[in-house]
Amino acid sequence: MNIKQMESTYFMPTTKRVDLVVKKAKGQFVWDEKGKKYLDFFTGVSVCNLGHLNNAVVKAVKKQLDEYAHVSIHYYAPVQMKLGKELAKKFGGRVFLSNTGAEANECAIKLARKYGHTTGGRYEIIAFNNSFHGRTVMTSAATGQAKFHEYLKPLPPKFVFADFNDIESVKKLINDKTAAIIVEPVQGEGGIYVATKEFLKGLRVLADKHNIVLIFDEIQCGLGRTGKFFAFEHYGVKPDVITLAKAIANGLPLAATIANKKFGEVFTYGDHGTTFGGNPVSCAAALAVIKEMSPKFLKNSLETAKYLYAKLNDLKKKYNIIKEVRGIGLMTGIELSIAGKDILEYCLNKGLIVNCPQKTVIRMLPPLTITKKDVDAAVKILNDAFSKVK
Ligand SMILES: *Cc1c(COP(=O)(O)O)cnc(C)c1O
Repeated sequence: MNIKQMESTYFMPTTKRVDLVVKKAKGQFVWDEKGKKYLDFFTGVSVCNLGHLNNAVVKAVKKQLDEYAHVSIHYYAPVQMKLGKELAKKFGGRVFLSNTGAEANECAIKLARKYGHTTGGRYEIIAFNNSFHGRTVMTSAATGQAKFHEYLKPLPPKFVFADFNDIESVKKLINDKTAAIIVEPVQGEGGIYVATKEFLKGLRVLADKHNIVLIFDEIQCGLGRTGKFFAFEHYGVKPDVITLAKAIANGLPLAATIANKKFGEVFTYGDHGTTFGGNPVSCAAALAVIKEMSPKFLKNSLETAKYLYAKLNDLKKKYNIIKEVRGIGLMTGIELSIAGKDILEYCLNKGLIVNCPQKTVIRMLPPLTITKKDVDAAVKILNDAFSKVK
């Protein structure tokens, strides 16, 4: 039985996998079982932002494994305390550590529901069309895409949906039961849509006016992906609660929900918990990630991003199947007038990994460590792909 047969025989058929058996990964490269090398412009959905097996991260992980792998939230693990301090200091407030993005959002939603409950019996949460917040039942309900709601009805109450970048549509939904607003500053799974400054500023004003918890889901767009540590730094707008996961430990499972001073003390003992959350090995990795993501490092990634957009806009001039190039930092989408599937297959064949979060959108989430040379190599393959389908 080969690897692909094992998948099709023993796994629940939840995800259609790409035809790539991964043998090895290092930096911006992945190798398959035959030794073929790929340039990875997806990093496992914006997880290995520092590149695969970043040296500092690997070193920190190995060191932690010489001590222990797990102690649980019932005791003190110094490495976990150190990470909590770093994250709380970066955002200002208090942190809860978990394992996955969905859990980080569950925590934020629970916090908002408790706050709403204790301040006038409020429970409604405004989310956005085209959003993505996770795969648990609650975070599926928060996700503004009908395909994720199929078979789950009745959905847990009560999420209502406004239009992204349309502040008037948010105003219309606010009532005396509204407890929170949850939004991605850059919609990732939805197809790379960047919030406008006006929109996020408008949400901040509404949240303050109505005493609503403003939650930013930065699970995909945070942690350097947009060229800033937090995406909100581009906007001059700070949420009350932020959720992080994906890239936080550069490949190990970890997530964080951070609440500002006001909301950091909503939970009291017993309100929330976790077995694996804040795993010491993952925390050691995350401490190394934070150290590596210096302002200089991030600025450098913005320079590379600028170069990438210039090259992609050149392609846009050349091929009219490219409708739009959009994004911020190294979080990039190419909107096509055709399905992206054939382009994806061609790229994979030629050794470039990209992805399609929506039918007509090609998404690129390369490691933040890529060079202009890597951009040139990727753009050359994309150019060839577009010329083939033209
Ligand atoms: C990936 C993602 C999630 C869910 O994270 P998991 O770790 O898969 O649970 C939530 N929100 C956003 C914006 C994401 O990109």
